[in-house]
Amino acid sequence: MRLRNVTGSREMIAGSRFVVHEPALQKGRWHEAFGNDHPIHIEIGMGKGRFLMALAAANPDINYIGIEKYSTVLLRAVQKLEAQELANLRLVRMDAEEICEVFGQGEVARIYLNFSDPWPKDRHAKRRLPSRQFLARYHELLAPDGRIEFKTDNANLFDFALGELEPAGWQLEAVTRDLHHDEKLFVGNIMTEYEERFSSMGNPIYKYIIYR
Ligand code: SAM
Repeated sequence: MRLRNVTGSREMIAGSRFVVHEPALQKGRWHEAFGNDHPIHIEIGMGKGRFLMALAAANPDINYIGIEKYSTVLLRAVQKLEAQELANLRLVRMDAEEICEVFGQGEVARIYLNFSDPWPKDRHAKRRLPSRQFLARYHELLAPDGRIEFKTDNANLFDFALGELEPAGWQLEAVTRDLHHDEKLFVGNIMTEYEERFSSMGNPIYKYIIYR
């Protein structure tokens, strides 16, 4: 997903009013950045941002924050947002490992993880965004009745993610191994860039919604 040779991407991001440049300063006061008390939903590893932009356009009473590690990728979302102007969407370039420095306790109502990097080697398991190490971080910033929604086409990553729930103290609210043929869960589904690519190749899409 990482795009190379995008000259000046850091500078373009620095000049965007949709990007929050010092996100740690917003910790516990993200509502001030939006000027309202609407619930906050975040996507971690948002890529080029199509999913969050569609959600933000459809739900003006929810505030969305997209988090992406690489500026070369975030740049694509910035360019689209500059053209579409969504007042309820902000972007942050950061590594999700630092997420507890950026959001206060219970500040986030929903977390989306879409087609997270699989990190297939066992020794890298803790870098996987649905790992128990990340679930412990999400526990801090998610509201008591908050939910995490995770989609992937990677069966191994999905099985791993399911296995992390019990030891980390989370429970399944809904689960499917074929989202696009699931009568209930497919309602209102918004496809991500990766989802469109992999489902068009015939790959089933896995999804869970969890709470604790
Ligand atoms: N969510 C998008 C989609 O479904 O089309 C993009 C999926 S892409 C496979 C995963 C994205 O997550 C990449 O853009 C990657 O840079 C980002 N990412 C991976 N690890 C991350 C981390 N620790 N913090 C923030 N972003 C991360």
